[in-house]
Amino acid sequence: MNLLTNPVLDLFHETGAYLRGHFRLTSGLHSPEYLQCALVLQHPRHAEQLGSLLASALRSLVPGLEAKTVVSPALGGVVIGHEVARALGARAIFTERDPAGKMILRRGFSVEPAESVVVVEDVVTTGGSTREVVECLLAAGARVLAAGSIIDRSGGHAEVGAPRVSLVTLTVVTYPPDHCPLCEQGVPVAKPGSRPAPVA
Ligand code: ZN
Repeated sequence: MNLLTNPVLDLFHETGAYLRGHFRLTSGLHSPEYLQCALVLQHPRHAEQLGSLLASALRSLVPGLEAKTVVSPALGGVVIGHEVARALGARAIFTERDPAGKMILRRGFSVEPAESVVVVEDVVTTGGSTREVVECLLAAGARVLAAGSIIDRSGGHAEVGAPRVSLVTLTVVTYPPDHCPLCEQGVPVAKPGSRPAPVA
């Protein structure tokens, strides 16, 4: 991926959130690199800055944007959703999966019919989680104005059912597990997010 001269990616480098090693992505593909947003967002100062940048990007995407609520999928989207809401002067709520795996609002969270909302996530890979949140909100009668993420790992291709913007768009280097040069070298593979990941 191209990690040159981007202030957002500089933050990932500074905080050790740009991991190099051998990773099994959620898609099942292997990759020599991984961006761990939680390691940037653990610093409230950086989280606030990224939230402000993403709020600006959403306003550029939808001129006159007036969102009453920011909705994020838990857990990954909660911190950045909160900070985007701070910058937009909106409230921040989040969805969770019910035991059947369906994305729903819990904890007494709700949206009004025709309420203006934006959906915010940390990373979009296939766009699946964001799309599920969009569908949950549309089913509740909300108006979904836009969606945003810090990182887009889809190379810009993910479709989420709403206009979408990201601070950084990447095409991640990936290998099928049966044609992975790192596997061929016998490098142990880690699943980022579930275990401590090796950092070069
Ligand atoms: Zn591999």
